[in-house]
This record gives sequence, structure tokens and C-alpha cells, in this order.
Amino acid sequence: MGFWGISTGSTRLAQRVQSGVLMAVDKNMNEALEKPRNTEFVYRHLGAALIVAAVVFSASLFGILTRPFDFLAAFWPANAILLGLMVRCPNMATPTGWLAALVGYLSADFLTGGGLEMTLWMTAANMSGVLTGCYLFSRLDPADRKLLRPQSVLYMFSICVVMAACSGAVGGGITPVYFGHEVSTGVLLWFSTELVNSLVVLPIMLTAPVWALAALNPARSIRRWTVEWRRGLPIVALILSLAASFSIGGPGAIAFPVPALLWCALSYSLFSTVLLTGAVSTVYLIAVAFSLDATNTGTDIASTVSIRLGVTFLVLGPIMVASINSAREELLRTLDHAANHDALTGCLLRTPFMARSEVRIAQQKQRGMSVAMLMLDIDHFKSINDRYGHPMGDQALMAFAAAIKPLLRKRDLLGRLGGEEFAVLMSGVTYEETMSIAQRLCDEVQKQLITLEVGDTISITVSIGVCWQPKASMTLRQMLISSDQALYQAKSTGRNKVVSL
Ligand code: GH3
Ligand code: MG
Ligand code: MG
Repeated sequence: MGFWGISTGSTRLAQRVQSGVLMAVDKNMNEALEKPRNTEFVYRHLGAALIVAAVVFSASLFGILTRPFDFLAAFWPANAILLGLMVRCPNMATPTGWLAALVGYLSADFLTGGGLEMTLWMTAANMSGVLTGCYLFSRLDPADRKLLRPQSVLYMFSICVVMAACSGAVGGGITPVYFGHEVSTGVLLWFSTELVNSLVVLPIMLTAPVWALAALNPARSIRRWTVEWRRGLPIVALILSLAASFSIGGPGAIAFPVPALLWCALSYSLFSTVLLTGAVSTVYLIAVAFSLDATNTGTDIASTVSIRLGVTFLVLGPIMVASINSAREELLRTLDHAANHDALTGCLLRTPFMARSEVRIAQQKQRGMSVAMLMLDIDHFKSINDRYGHPMGDQALMAFAAAIKPLLRKRDLLGRLGGEEFAVLMSGVTYEETMSIAQRLCDEVQKQLITLEVGDTISITVSIGVCWQPKASMTLRQMLISSDQALYQAKSTGRNKVVSL
């Protein structure tokens, strides 16, 4: 694990010691060998460290701006963002990365006029929580680290509690020294702020897809949203419930957005849901923060803490629903794939191939556009089974499918009709394109050398019958018969060729 960077760090240390010894033996040769590697090493670590420092610095600055009346910050996202970064990018969790985080915290505080002792104390509290959280996350299954299983939300919650307790224990003592409150008040405030912030920010960091920014491509989303405007309804409901919550108010108001959030959890992806729950919590936390004043009595602080905790715990429900829903959808996708695809070759099974082809042909007919059916049959396949046995025949079938798949477009349908017979349905292709693709399939299969598990290397050939229709006027059945007749002719006139009637 890259948590402390100990394993990787010590290996590198050993490499450096070793390279030092080698350098003494042949300085010139080693300088030439070591230089590019060291430069790359330095750039990689420096780059990661700069990102960590910049992120922690900006997030801390944001937190300091929400610090009401010189009291502890109400919204402090830096720790959860740093933890999320270290969990998602373990290559940043090196001693250099942690040092960069320290620089980020300290510089934000110094820049805004924090005293040395208080800054060091607060940073120690922040870092102790993040380090503990990072260690605990490193013990989890990778699927749990991305909240991909229903119980992952509970694991995350438990880690956040421990992390907040660590920070609270270290940082709580600041309160009597600098703010004149009881230690217990300080610990409670620190604990609740840390817990609330990490529960709001961490799910976003843990579920953010790598392509998150690319998905925000405005052209794409605008098209999607205008076409599927109904998909926006849960968000409209959420905004209305927030408006009702602020206008009606009262102790139950924070629960108003729950039904809309549950609707969002069932309608959107896990990542979108945690973004929405994060936004809702942030709205409430900031609203609560600015009604808190440094001269508050213990009771007021207790009710602030209570509201903060209540808001955060409330959104755990929708997050868990979204997590269960995404696990369910993944399972359905897997089942759907298994029900429609051949386990050996990954091609469509006969029935789904026929069903999808029928739909495609009907669509092309309506548009007056072309469609082509290719019927493929491996030549003398029986002799492979006879000579090497059925399992080796299966291996040849897998190699055959793997050879032809890359030559087809995503929208082409490839089905295994049975045994060593396959079919391809293509749409919107000219006759010349169809024949050229078919010939390329033929050539690629022949070129492929298949090394069987028994050690022998064989090659196979395929015969292809083509039926091309400029305006998709034939039915599926007629196209199958026609391409089958063309295939028969390819077989009877020498095999390893493409024939179109
Ligand atoms: P031709 O060139 O005329 O097509 O000759 P062929 O030997 O390929 O023709 P035929 O259709 O007679 O033989 C197909 C063989 O494919 C028969 C069967 O044993 C074998 N076969 C069918 N399904 C499978 C399978 O799933 N795995 C393996 N290993 N063999 C299969
Ligand atoms: Mg055959
Ligand atoms: Mg056959």
C-alpha cells in the first residue's frame, strides 16, 4: 500500500544506496543511466506535491473565509478533499505528498494572519485526522473505497467518525486557550464540524469518475437535457423542497428535501447523487454557520452542532439508496449481458441477434437505407476438433471471434448462430464497402496464428456469404436464406473466400 509510502520509499532508498555504490565503481556509465530516471522521479513527485499543496491551500482558504467571527471554521472541506485525493490517487500518499499538504495548511493560515502556535496546533489536528482516515481507507476493499457496495457507505461513515474523533481530540484543546470556551465544547464543535464536512465532501471525492470533467461537456449535456427534460424533474423537486424548507422553517425543515433526494438517488448515478446531497448539506451548513456567533452560550452551540449532525446524517439515506441502486443496475447489466451473449466468444446469441437484426432492418427500410448480412462459417472446423480435441476447437473459436471483432464498427451486430457459424449485420454501407469489409474479415482470420494450449500453432480460414440490400427491402428471413446460399457457393467453389449472389 502506498499509505505511508514506506514500502515504495524503502525500495527507492535501497535503489539509491545501490546506485551510489555502483556510481563509485563506474561513475560515468551510471550518471548516464541514472539521470533520466532521477529527473522523471523528481518531476513526478514534484507535480503530485504541487497539486496536493495547491488543493489544500485553496480548500483551507475557503474554510477560513467561512470562519465566523474568528471562531472555528464552520465549513472546512480541506481535510476531506485531502483524504479523498490520497485515497483516490495513492501515488500522492508519499512523504513528499504529506509534506506538501502540511505546506498547504500552514501557508493558508499564515497568509490570513494566523499566529504560529495556533496555526501549528490546528494543522496538527487536521493532519492527524486525515492520516488516520487514510490509513483506515487503505485497509478497505477497493470497491468499498469507491462506495460501490451498499455497506461501503457505513464503512465510510465509521471512518469519518474515527477521523473526526482524532481531529477533535487533538484540536479541542485550542478552544479554552484562544476562544474562551470549555475543552468539551471545543472537542464537540471540532468533532461535529469534521464529521459533517467529511460526510459531505468525501462521497464526492470517492465516487468522482476520472472522466468527470469530460462528462460536463456543455454541448453534450444540453442536448441530453433538452431531449430528456423529464430527467430534470427530481432536481426541480429538490429545489422546490429547499425553497419550502427555508420559507416554512422550524425544527423539521431540514428533512424537507429528503423525498426529492431519494427520487434523485433512484434517477441519477451515484456520483450525481452525492453531488446533489453535498450541495444540499452545504447550503444548510452555511445557513447554520452564519447564525452562529462567538459569544454563543453552550446551549446555542449544542443546537448548532445538533443541526449540523442532523443535516449530514439525513443525506446518508439517499447516498445509500443511490449506492444500492447502482449496485443493482450493475448486476442487471451483467445479467443482461450474460443472457444475450455467448460465454465462449462474447458474440450475441442467436435469438437476441435475430431480434436486434429485425429491428435494425425495419429501421433501415423506413429510412430507405442499405443493410448487409454476412454469413460466416469456419472452414474444415471439424478436422480441428478431430485432431486436437473439443477444448482446442473452443480455443480456436475464441481466437476467431477476437480476430474479427476489431474490424467491425460498434453498431454492427455480430452473432453466433450456432457451432462455428456466425453472422454480421451491417447498416448504412455501400455494396463496395460491404465486400471490402467481408474480404478483410477473411484475410484477418487467415493471418491469425492460433497457438493452442497443447503448444501447436494453427491457422484457420473462413468462408463468407453476403446479401446486400440497398433499401433494406428483404425480410430478415429472406436475407438469411440469401446469404446462406452465397455461403454454400463459397464453400463449394474452394472455401476461404467471399461470395455475393
Ligand atoms: P466446412 O468447411 O464445410 O464448414 O467444414 P466443417 O468441418 O467446418 O463443417 P461442419 O459444419 O460439418 O462442422 C462443424 C463442426 O463444428 C462440427 C462440430 O463438432 C463443431 N462444433 C460445433 N460447435 C462447436 C463448439 O462449440 N465447440 C467446438 N470445439 N466445436 C464445435
Ligand atoms: Mg464449417
Ligand atoms: Mg458449419
